[in-house]
Amino acid sequence: MKVPFIDLQRAHAPIKAELLAAFEKTIEHGGYCLGPDVTAFEAGFAKEQGVSRSVGLGSGTEALHLIACAMGIGPGDEVIIPSFTFIASAWFAQYVGARVVFADIDPISYTLDPAALEALITERTKAIVVTHLFGQAADMDPILELAASRGIRVVEDAAQAHLACYKGKSVGEIGDAGAFSFYPTKNLGGLGEGGCVTSRDGELLNLIEILRAHGSKERYLNHYVGYNNRLEGLQAAALNVKLPALRGKTERRQQIADTYLNGIQHPEIVLPQVMGWGRSVYHMFTIQHPERDRLRSYLAENGIGTDIVYPHPLHLQPCFGFLGYKVGDFPVAERLAQRCLSLPIVPELTDEEVNYVIEILNAFQ
Ligand SMILES: *Cc1c(COP(=O)(O)O)cnc(C)c1O
Repeated sequence: MKVPFIDLQRAHAPIKAELLAAFEKTIEHGGYCLGPDVTAFEAGFAKEQGVSRSVGLGSGTEALHLIACAMGIGPGDEVIIPSFTFIASAWFAQYVGARVVFADIDPISYTLDPAALEALITERTKAIVVTHLFGQAADMDPILELAASRGIRVVEDAAQAHLACYKGKSVGEIGDAGAFSFYPTKNLGGLGEGGCVTSRDGELLNLIEILRAHGSKERYLNHYVGYNNRLEGLQAAALNVKLPALRGKTERRQQIADTYLNGIQHPEIVLPQVMGWGRSVYHMFTIQHPERDRLRSYLAENGIGTDIVYPHPLHLQPCFGFLGYKVGDFPVAERLAQRCLSLPIVPELTDEEVNYVIEILNAFQ
């Protein structure tokens, strides 16, 4: 049996006719950069996500970038960022010339360790970026409490966390702003690049709407140094087709995770834990094993696709060499990078495939 790690073909083949019909409509009305499809998607996504409003952008990376711009973060400022996340979380600070200050993660939730924060805060700290990694909401309360007491903004990187909640509240609006990605492999993905910003702060969103279109409030009158960073009409059209299925697809991910959690029984495999503050939406189902690479080859030999998300903690990335971090600085992140392995969890997997993965894993010697 062959079990793919990701299979976009399987996700899109059943809705191909609907997608093409939506594209036809876009071609008829001609709203390619913003336009009616984007307006409809911004409202639809906000409703589904349980937040007040969303602003559609060119990517999740640019969502983070424009939040930093709109918050006025820049040279001389410091931003605390977990070392174990996708690189774009760190671009938040780097793109605007602020200093990236890495922090270790919690060994159980794999999200920013609130206990690590206090010692990293200085009078220059302007923001803390929290990644809801693998679909698991970070432990927000202690982070928000500390940030509020020091006047620091909290930004949620929710690129992997569509529909995730923390203590019953939807991610994206718990901190000061949230960034979502609609990259094709995300829990909600378009047929190309896309992203959005969410926030309770309407003024911040208004500014991001201006920044995404060349900093212009009025045609050819530019109030700010802006960007070309709009969500495209065709992407929004595809996302509008896919949005109604997001909840069901998320539940299917959680069902597959339950099957893995109940079925995988192996003395050396560490399973992801279910956190009491909110169920993961399982963008990834990531296990740990001391001989990760040997396990990965064994699974590949048995037709099972996996991925290493992520093999390098950010403080050891060559691009951040100038920051002077070294091996040993963030032991939890470093250990996870060496031991983590993500199993197939796309909602299109069949029960037979999921059970096959369990059977093969349990037989690993
Ligand atoms: C995917 C991702 C991003 C970036 O989103 P893009 O749309 O690919 O630019 C940022 N942060 C995290 C945690 C991600 O997984």
